[in-house]
Amino acid sequence: MEPWVSTSRLERVLDGRLDTAWVATQWAHPAARVIGVDERSNVSSDDTGDALRWIRPGGDHDPEHHFLVGTVDDEPWFAVASTPEGPSASLRRLGAVLPETEGDIATTAVALVNWHRVAPYCGRCGALTEVREGGHMRWCGHCSRARFPRTDPAVIVAILDDEGRLLLGHHAGWEPTRVSILAGFVEAGESLEMAVHREIREESGLELSALRYVGSQPWPFPRSLMLGFVARAVGAEIRVDGAEIEWADFYTPAQVEALVASGELTLPMTSSIASRIITAWREGKLFT
Ligand SMILES: [Zn+2]
Repeated sequence: MEPWVSTSRLERVLDGRLDTAWVATQWAHPAARVIGVDERSNVSSDDTGDALRWIRPGGDHDPEHHFLVGTVDDEPWFAVASTPEGPSASLRRLGAVLPETEGDIATTAVALVNWHRVAPYCGRCGALTEVREGGHMRWCGHCSRARFPRTDPAVIVAILDDEGRLLLGHHAGWEPTRVSILAGFVEAGESLEMAVHREIREESGLELSALRYVGSQPWPFPRSLMLGFVARAVGAEIRVDGAEIEWADFYTPAQVEALVASGELTLPMTSSIASRIITAWREGKLFT
């Protein structure tokens, strides 16, 4: 599998956003655009749900509520928390159809707005914090400490057996036919590798070898970062936990194709890293 190369043109303007006055000039920029993120993490979209819907900024810049996502070709993009007015769409949908730069803008907007919604108070002293750096930092004046957006790492693992078959599992609570590769959150004090081995052992009973990192994807629901791996199963005896994963099995690409065509299996949505990894495997481009 080739390394994933980002073609995003979003500039995060680290120097500029430190200057509140400069951020205000960006708000007043004639080409500035504002997108809304509602409480469901949906992004303002057109009626089809396939494109972003944006407005020009109005009034003065309000640092507490107008967050600078970044610039594209020197044209600024802002995000605001919005109420669900007008059409909106989930990143789960938009991520599959937007050009990479707009997908990056939308993902960053959701991540920032989700963070500000839950982070107004200092986690250390409980004082109300204020927004700084165009929305990329919150400052606690009581502690004199900066707070930055948090990200929760999660691992997702494509497991191949000796014949190159892929392990697909069904999660409790999913629609009956849906399957994916296995995933889980990194726990406190764990390395990514430790998390992979623990999660897979817990969910499938399998031990792994030849673990290799393949790529990552921000998944701000509300604040995950998915880190993708591929590994080889040691043995083939699957013992699912029965609670989180109800069943799992190894499949050949031909079996997946046939079962998807007959409606017996449903694969992950195409915007997800799981889909990207499964597609690479189906095309013979995923190796341990
Ligand atoms: Zn504090």
